Amino acid sequence: MTDPDCLFCKIVAGDIPAEVVHTGERTVAFRDINPQAPLHVLVVPRDHEPNAAASADADASMFAEIATTARAVATGEGYDDYRLVFNTGSGVGQTVFHTHCHVLAGRPMGWPPG
Ligand code: IMP
Repeated sequence: MTDPDCLFCKIVAGDIPAEVVHTGERTVAFRDINPQAPLHVLVVPRDHEPNAAASADADASMFAEIATTARAVATGEGYDDYRLVFNTGSGVGQTVFHTHCHVLAGRPMGWPPG
């Protein structure tokens, strides 16, 4: 399923350029255009769902694949420690409504997140 108006669907389709670091059968990972850490990659399912909750409803196994992809990307770039973030809803900062997992690494990170 794709949404013709969705930015990340267009990146997944190759219609909008991105620095892609992983392509899998069900996931694609590319560098965030506005990186917040030395490593900042977005792992997205190819299937369009507006957020993580909707992706879980559609196919919960997708989360295992996203986590595995995130680990491969992070460790492949030399980071054993990394943070995964799914912003879910505009109230917590989601701006692109295609499920995506932020993979962040390479600098100290505070807790709780801001
Ligand atoms: P959100 O705020 O959790 O929805 O994250 C959306 C992310 O997408 C932000 O970190 C943006 O910097 C990133 N982003 C927006 N447009 C692009 C793009 O064209 N390529 C790569 N990343 C993008």
